[in-house]
Amino acid sequence: MEEWTPDRAFAGNDRNSMGQEHTYSGALSFMRRRYTQELDGVDVAVSGIPFDLATTNRPGARFGPAGIRAASAHLSWGKPWPWGLDPFETLNVIDYGDCDFDFGMPETITEAIRAHAAGVIGKGVTLLSLGGDHYASYPLLKAHHERHGPLSLVHFDAHSDTWREDGKRVHHGTMFYHAAQEGLIDPARSVQVGLRTYNEETHGFTILDAEWIHENGVEAAIAEIKRVVGDHKAYLTFDIDCLDPSFAPGTGTPVCGGLSTRQAQAILRGLVPIDFVGMDLVEVAPVYDHAQITALAAAHLACEFLCLLARRRTAG
Ligand code: MN
Ligand code: MN
Repeated sequence: MEEWTPDRAFAGNDRNSMGQEHTYSGALSFMRRRYTQELDGVDVAVSGIPFDLATTNRPGARFGPAGIRAASAHLSWGKPWPWGLDPFETLNVIDYGDCDFDFGMPETITEAIRAHAAGVIGKGVTLLSLGGDHYASYPLLKAHHERHGPLSLVHFDAHSDTWREDGKRVHHGTMFYHAAQEGLIDPARSVQVGLRTYNEETHGFTILDAEWIHENGVEAAIAEIKRVVGDHKAYLTFDIDCLDPSFAPGTGTPVCGGLSTRQAQAILRGLVPIDFVGMDLVEVAPVYDHAQITALAAAHLACEFLCLLARRRTAG
């Protein structure tokens, strides 16, 4: 572990280790990674998508990236438990800053997010996006599809986000319907986890709803996700409202009866064999949060993803 270095986000010299820094001061990059848009030699870029114009209920997810970064300062000083590894010894991870778009020209935002993501992915860098409302996954999937083809979607959520909708209208409850229709994702190789709202149409997705998880447990969920996805390239999307409101009050459309933070962490830890090519974590709305419960959960889940990638790489 590196010696004490204040403001590691722009002053740290060693990209490949964690390091001690006051948790309450300094530049709040994700897990104190270096803020840079230089992508040479980078394995993973973390980037915020501060967009919440496609919400059906409470807005505020535009503050999600800043909230998750602030909470992640608590995680940046030591090895993530219980992995027993420092993900930054294996992966060069940077904070790429936020996606820029013009709120005065909403018709351009989808393309702005897609192009932002494509600029990172096109360099062979894995993108970990912090939302933003869940609509962001739609342009993110467009960008990932361009490089990787149709993807398996591993989707944690209280909601299906596949409500049928005709025409050009797309919002944070319908974008996976459109993504499936457009062939960005393959429902037959995709899994939705933690749902607890009705949608009469499954559109061919395998659904492990919240009751299924509570009754069958974490290990059964891991086995089923691995069975459906197999060795297909996959995209992980985590809507923080998959967690019960007691574990994630700071979100726009909370639904009771959800997963605990620990259940979600344990499922993610079991998914090392899956070939994830990208991830987003969305719908964190800090204005409804209490004591950083939600932002901290989100930071932990994003960290699980980095550890998952690191473990997969070291396992060869
Ligand atoms: Mn949701
Ligand atoms: Mn969602």
